[in-house]
Amino acid sequence: MVDRTPYALVTGASSGIGRAFAIHLAENGYNLIIVSRSPGRLEEVADRLRAQTQCSVQVLVADLTIPAQLQLVERRLQAAPPVALLVNNAGSLTSGPFATLDRDVVEAQINLLVTATVRLTHAALEGMIAREQGTIVNISSNVAFRPHPEFPIYGSSKAFVNYFTRSLAQDPRFAAVRFLEVNPPRTRTEIFERAGYAFPTASMESWLSPEEVVDAAMKDLAVGEATSFPGEGSRDRVLRRLLPRRMGPRIAGVLYRLARP
Ligand code: NAP
Repeated sequence: MVDRTPYALVTGASSGIGRAFAIHLAENGYNLIIVSRSPGRLEEVADRLRAQTQCSVQVLVADLTIPAQLQLVERRLQAAPPVALLVNNAGSLTSGPFATLDRDVVEAQINLLVTATVRLTHAALEGMIAREQGTIVNISSNVAFRPHPEFPIYGSSKAFVNYFTRSLAQDPRFAAVRFLEVNPPRTRTEIFERAGYAFPTASMESWLSPEEVVDAAMKDLAVGEATSFPGEGSRDRVLRRLLPRRMGPRIAGVLYRLARP
């Protein structure tokens, strides 16, 4: 009998938001292909998914900043069985004044956040258009709406992801494919520690959990939204909808800052 369970591919699924996406999708009827650089951590996630759900899990070890390894993931997106849902989530945080940043580090950050997102979206889109169905979720950040001198490359890469995803979502030629751009606020994951930050645990308590980000994003996807702002209160949502596109997120950003010392 042919297994008709849809496949989802999640990049950066070894921890944080990507791991929470993988768990959510496995619990909601998807087979999973999980991608990151860490075989051991991916296998841990895969074991958990296999033990707690009926899903099949494929582990794909790839550093998405390395072209030959990125191509492995592109090839899987173009192979059978088809991938119905792609989550471009893998990310890291490069921070500091632009002039002090190492050029190779800058390039790797752009390769991960921009190039990998664009190439994987392109690789997935071809088949989705032919099958007249599919979903692409791109993880941006609310930093994309609030330029900050500490995040010149991270923030502008995330702004790219926003523009890119919204452009595709508005293209009538891709009407059969659903696009969602997700803009999490600060979320309790490893990304800050990996970037050398040490926030006090007390201040992190007010941040979202990865599961809250994923729940909000999947609820927005279910009601046909193309943009998701996890953690956004109803007041912020009304403001964002009423105000011109450029203003809403800025004001929401100020409200986030006031709400989170
Ligand atoms: P995280 O826990 O550090 O997870 C990052 C994931 O990306 C890990 O699975 C990591 O796996 C993978 N990754 C990093 N570099 C990679 C590379 N070169 N190739 C392949 N995979 C790579 O951080 P997170 O917060 O969940 O981040 C997920 C996404 O959310 C990122 O795009 C981030 O920018 C975005 N975001 C986070 C926040 C927040 O406050 N946490 C807010 C807004 C947006 P390996 O190390 O195993 O490769």
